[in-house]
Order: sequence, then structure tokens, then C-alpha cells
Amino acid sequence: MLIVMDPNATADQIDAVVARINALGFSGRALPGAQRTAVAVTGNQGAVDQDAFIRMAGVKEVVRVSAPYKLVSREVKPDDTVIDVRGVKVGGTNFVVMAGPCSVETREQLMETADAVKAAGATILRGGAYKPRTSPYDFQGLGVAGLKLLAEARERTGMPIVTEVMDTETVDVVCEHADILQIGARNMQNFALLQAIGKTQKPILLKRGMAATLKELLMAAEYIIAAGNPNVMLCERGVRTFETMTRNTFDVSAIHMLRRLTHLPIVADPSHAIGIWHGVPALARAAVVADAQALIIEVHPRPEEALSDGPQALKPETFQRLMDQVRKLRAVMVEDGQLL
Ligand code: PEP
Ligand code: MN
Repeated sequence: MLIVMDPNATADQIDAVVARINALGFSGRALPGAQRTAVAVTGNQGAVDQDAFIRMAGVKEVVRVSAPYKLVSREVKPDDTVIDVRGVKVGGTNFVVMAGPCSVETREQLMETADAVKAAGATILRGGAYKPRTSPYDFQGLGVAGLKLLAEARERTGMPIVTEVMDTETVDVVCEHADILQIGARNMQNFALLQAIGKTQKPILLKRGMAATLKELLMAAEYIIAAGNPNVMLCERGVRTFETMTRNTFDVSAIHMLRRLTHLPIVADPSHAIGIWHGVPALARAAVVADAQALIIEVHPRPEEALSDGPQALKPETFQRLMDQVRKLRAVMVEDGQLL
């Protein structure tokens, strides 16, 4: 249920509504918006009696929320969420490119890549220190040493860092170094992990599970927000289908549907979607035109030497060309600061 406040409602009136919801044993959360504030009621098993709220001062209307996901839905919060990552704004009409290697391998590799993606116009640096690998014999990441290198790359370039956290035990150490916590596809429904990162206020990049429906993705995001962290971005990174020519199947429809269903920023990952470097620019362009608000792209100065995901890594010069194309596409799509 959603309690929509009058545009002139005072902070005290909003607090009183939240307090009454909590006193009834539910959870009340104020969601300030551009036009008005609404208060979402969650934690109720069945319908909540509307009469308890409709006569309260400052309340405009009480609305039932039909979707099973509440806090993530546009029904509950019509305006886009914009997340500030050390001054880089993700969401709304902003467009952001995150780029860097799949894994942090060496200082030289990371710094070289960071300088190159920054020069091309990326504003957030990606790099895995903890790697979820299909084989236990493959490179598992540098762990804390990788996190330290990422922090050093942030110092050097000024770019905030996005890196994966794989389990509840490492949430604290990853939080110490990273600016955005990535939850990988394989962990999208690791509910203990979702709840643990929900207790932080770090921006989260939640990747779609490889066989997850959009409803499941939205419900996973709901876990994080319900636990107290509203700073969630969703990432379409391809899903597994019958096709074997590509690593995954990029679901462009997901970008469109998610933009309608949720106020959260939508990120596209063409690298993991197709899994082949020469297809990454085409998918990235498709994502931009489909209205994704950010891209995350794997770049490696020497892909043939990469310890993970070499086949899908762009060389810096290809990434630079893609960035030029992305800038042109965005210019076509935005008029007077508004998306067409
Ligand atoms: C990655 O970003 O390198 C990664 C492992 O992604 P995903 O979880 O989408 O497979
Ligand atoms: Mn990767």
C-alpha cells in the first residue's frame, strides 16, 4: 500500500504517517519525489485498513500497489532514482559508462587499462578482485590485493570503482575499498548476501541471474531496498537460452520493460551478453538506443593475455571508437535535457 501525501504536507505530517505504520507492526518508508512524497507500507501479509490513514493530516490518498515488488516499482515512486557515486550521477537522464578489465591481474594491467578507459570518456572503473569462476582451477582473483590496486587506480584517475562482492564474509572489506558493490549473476538470489549489502548504504550493481525473470530480478532488488539500502542499479547482462554461438542472449526487451517497471537505474553489460569482442559495440549501441542509462564494458590492453574473459574484452582503441559512437547516439536521443 502507498500513502500519497499532499504536495504541501509537512515533514511532521510525513513522520506521523510513518510512525503510525510502524506502530501497527508494519514498515513505513518515506519516498520523497519531485512532485510529492509518498509513504510505502511493507511487511504486511494481507491488506492494511485504509481508514487508519485517510483522515490523517497531510494525506492525499491511499493507493493499493498491485505489483508484488513495491519499493522498486514506478507505481510507488514515479521519478527515476539518481544515485550519486562520488559525484558521478547514475540514473535519470544521465548516461554513464563503466569500463575496465574483467579481473584485476597486475598493477601494470590495471593502471594501463584505467588510464585508457578514462581517456576514452568512461567515468567509473570496473575490475574484479573476487571472481566467480565456473572451474575451481581457473584464476580466482587477487582478493584484498586486488581491492588495494583498485583503490590505487581510483587515487590515480579519480574514477570511482565497481567490483564484485561474492559472499557475506567479504562485504566489509569490499565496502572499505569499493564505491559500488557488484552482485554477480550467479549470486542474484543469494538472499543472505542481498540482506547483508542492504544493511550498507553503498551503491549496488545487481546483475540479472542467467536464468532469472525480470520479476525475480526486481524481487531481488526489493530485498536490498527492504533491508535499508535504496541505492540499487539493475544490470541486464544476457540470459541463457538454446543459442550456443554467443555466450548468452542479450535481452534488449528487458531494458525497455525495466525502464517502465522500475525507477532504478538500468545498466547494460554487452560484454557478458554476447561474450565475443567484435559483437560488443553493436550490443552497446543497441542498449543506448533502447534507453539504458549506463553501460559496463570489459576492456583489456592485451586480451590474449587476460586471465578471465579475454575473448570478450575490447582493446582500448576499439573502446575509444565505441565511446565516440555512444556520444553521438546519446546526442540524438536527448533534446533539451529530455530523453526523446
Ligand atoms: C563480471 O562482471 O566479470 C561477471 C562475472 O559478470 P556476471 O556476474 O554477469 O557473469
Ligand atoms: Mn567478466
